[in-house]
Amino acid sequence: MEQAQSLGFKSVVIVGAGPSGLLLALCLADLDPRPDITILDAAESLNTAPRATNYGTPAIQLFRKVGILPEIRRDGYVPNNVCWRKLDGTRLAGIDWTVNHQEGLAGDFITVYAVGEMCGLLERELKSRASISIRGGSKVTAIKSGLASEDDHAVVEVEENGQTKEYSADYIVGTDGGNSTVRRLVFGSRKFPGFSWEEQIVATNCLSKIEIDLDQFDWEDSNFIIHPEHFFMAARIAPHSDPKKNVWRVSYGELPGLSNEELMQRQEMKFEKILPGNPKPDQYRVLNKSPYRVHQRCVDSMRVNRVLLAADAAHLCNPFGGMGLTGGIADIAGLVQCLEGMYKGDTDDSIFTTWSDVQRQKYHDIINPISSGNIRRLFDQDLEKVMETDEFLKMLKRAESDPELAQQIHKSGNNLNYDYSQHFRKQQNGTSAS
Ligand SMILES: Cc1cc2nc3c(=O)[nH]c(=O)nc-3n(C[C@H](O)[C@H](O)[C@H](O)COP(=O)(O)OP(=O)(O)OC[C@H]3O[C@@H](n4cnc5c(N)ncnc54)[C@H](O)[C@@H]3O)c2cc1C
Repeated sequence: MEQAQSLGFKSVVIVGAGPSGLLLALCLADLDPRPDITILDAAESLNTAPRATNYGTPAIQLFRKVGILPEIRRDGYVPNNVCWRKLDGTRLAGIDWTVNHQEGLAGDFITVYAVGEMCGLLERELKSRASISIRGGSKVTAIKSGLASEDDHAVVEVEENGQTKEYSADYIVGTDGGNSTVRRLVFGSRKFPGFSWEEQIVATNCLSKIEIDLDQFDWEDSNFIIHPEHFFMAARIAPHSDPKKNVWRVSYGELPGLSNEELMQRQEMKFEKILPGNPKPDQYRVLNKSPYRVHQRCVDSMRVNRVLLAADAAHLCNPFGGMGLTGGIADIAGLVQCLEGMYKGDTDDSIFTTWSDVQRQKYHDIINPISSGNIRRLFDQDLEKVMETDEFLKMLKRAESDPELAQQIHKSGNNLNYDYSQHFRKQQNGTSAS
């Protein structure tokens, strides 16, 4: 207890037990002595909707740091390739990741692992390593303290089993997703700068029977199909090593203005139209499906005094290219480094303002332009001229015969990383305290 008094913080309340909140909790659980960590979630059970499957470099590095990469690689898989095609299946350009696998690149390969399974793994690790459980059915409704500069702690009000309770900590971290209550309580309902795409997306996890096994069409691990109306992505989400599990994620664009019911009714028609072999409903089985509105938005600040916002609660992007959660995990990796620095006395909490500035800059300079380019590439171009006009596809074409360029593309995931120790107090020899 005496030792804990000297630490930069003693307690954290994490609002939202999605992948980002659970990962933050697991990283903090490794601090010695362990701070007091409370995880609140409005839902009674983990979310299993079809969402993130592909994790980029910063995520892989944090999974390694916290010791869960071996399990993720065992139950997920490292994809071999990705390509862009026309609706008739013609391959335009792509990336053969295996070239880079041979080069090593520190094993930071993109890895595929369904986010629902990820949350299950994180929850099990928290229980077994640190006896930390999620407080399910705890819906945050108000922030009672922590937003004013003079507040010396933060308090959230929660509805739990029909009762009102309060949870208090040195810091509150809102990782409560795209509809974040914490964000609304901090900024009001309208302050989420950016825009929403008119196009709607339907994501399905499709377990196909052998008749529409996409491998028979020589499709690659991830396939992006360019078409003004029927653009879509089909990506393998079960490993090659388990051929019985021929599971693919199919995410396709839909017309603006349709109700959720209409979107769901149109799914069979869309599959017959877009998938190779034009499969009828009895030729595949859909495990789950969800419609989504997609957005490009980022808050003006990820820190207001003792309240922090991270991942989807702070910024959103469309899912094409898998930058949403990867960007969210980059926030968490940075936040963990800042909290560790504070815990060791190497920095004070002004580091959170730096963290907010840097992570927002990464969103505006990298995540927003690249993800916006990824979705526009699919529906907003002249298909006949695409290999003359699309600079990204032209670069991929060059990289097919230029291994150095292929490596550069692979390493670009590191651009989301940032070393916050450069802002920590300097020791006498001039190096950052560690
Ligand atoms: C179709 C699709 C495909 C995608 N594919 C990829 C991909 O391949 N790669 C990638 O990197 N990203 C991808 N993304 C994005 C990714 O899924 C999200 O970025 C990620 O799930 C966000 O995680 P999170 O932890 O921030 O929030 P969430 O997973 O949304 O978790 C938020 C949690 O907060 C809880 N909560 C909400 N309100 C409250 C409250 N008031 N009180 C308490 N708890 C609350 C919720 O119950 C929930 O459990 C995809 C998204 C979609 C839609």
